[in-house]
Amino acid sequence: MHAASSIDRPDHNGSSGPIGLMAAMPQELQALIDLMPDEASVRCGSRIFWRGHLHGQEVVAVLSGIGKVAAAITATLLADAFGVSQIWFTGVAGGLGAEVRVGDVVVGEALIQHDMDASPLFPKHELPGLGLSRLHPPVALTRWVHDGVAQALLDVHRHVPLHALGLPQPRVHQGLIASGDQFVASAEDADTLRHHLPDVLAVEMEGAAVAQVCDAFGLPFAVVRTISDRADASAHLDFTRFIEQVASPYSLAIVSALLKSKSSVA
Ligand code: SAH
Repeated sequence: MHAASSIDRPDHNGSSGPIGLMAAMPQELQALIDLMPDEASVRCGSRIFWRGHLHGQEVVAVLSGIGKVAAAITATLLADAFGVSQIWFTGVAGGLGAEVRVGDVVVGEALIQHDMDASPLFPKHELPGLGLSRLHPPVALTRWVHDGVAQALLDVHRHVPLHALGLPQPRVHQGLIASGDQFVASAEDADTLRHHLPDVLAVEMEGAAVAQVCDAFGLPFAVVRTISDRADASAHLDFTRFIEQVASPYSLAIVSALLKSKSSVA
């Protein structure tokens, strides 16, 4: 068999390409687009990508889609058709770690697909072909994102009426995020996840899929999640209100702070 050659992708800029911004919610995406002075939309399949600049940085912003497959399609297009240099994902998640409260933010240090189970052929959670179950963003990027998030949240009370919403001043956590095609909304399911993954901080439906795509394309990535619920029976309450009043302003503040800080070092 001959060695495979690569498809030539004219848009592919490697490390100098735009930053891919994946938003989980339409409200989050809209807030980003509203800040882009020169946004232009490009349709690719059923998705609309927004190319332009944000705080001086070249970006491509897009709605992720819900679930691992939807997120993987979106991330693949960002990587291959738009030639992004890295992907930042923002959205909400259910809190599983004991210290992780609604309104806190979790930065992914490792991502795992909690519903991947090809046992007995492979150990539970192992990604067949990759020989591992946890994917890690670059350590330096994670640390930089963590610090940027902490900085962005210092004055978040100026945009979000924390007190009126009964929320504490947000804390930033860094650790394991589990993803699966399931909205976890029972104490029993949350306990099962904690049993299998004792160090898990949060559960959501996309992050580890994006991580796997980034692994396949050699791209750095960051996953930042605002905790919207505790993945228990009350998880569905006021979801929309939380996204509009808390998660979207948080995401905007976080992405803006990170882009500004990148501009100042670039
Ligand atoms: N109400 C939304 C559906 C949200 S699905 C709508 O109508 O469109 C849940 C989304 O929030 C997913 O993107 C997932 O990543 C995240 N999420 C928040 N809490 C979660 C939980 N407890 N379990 C799984 N995913 C959760």
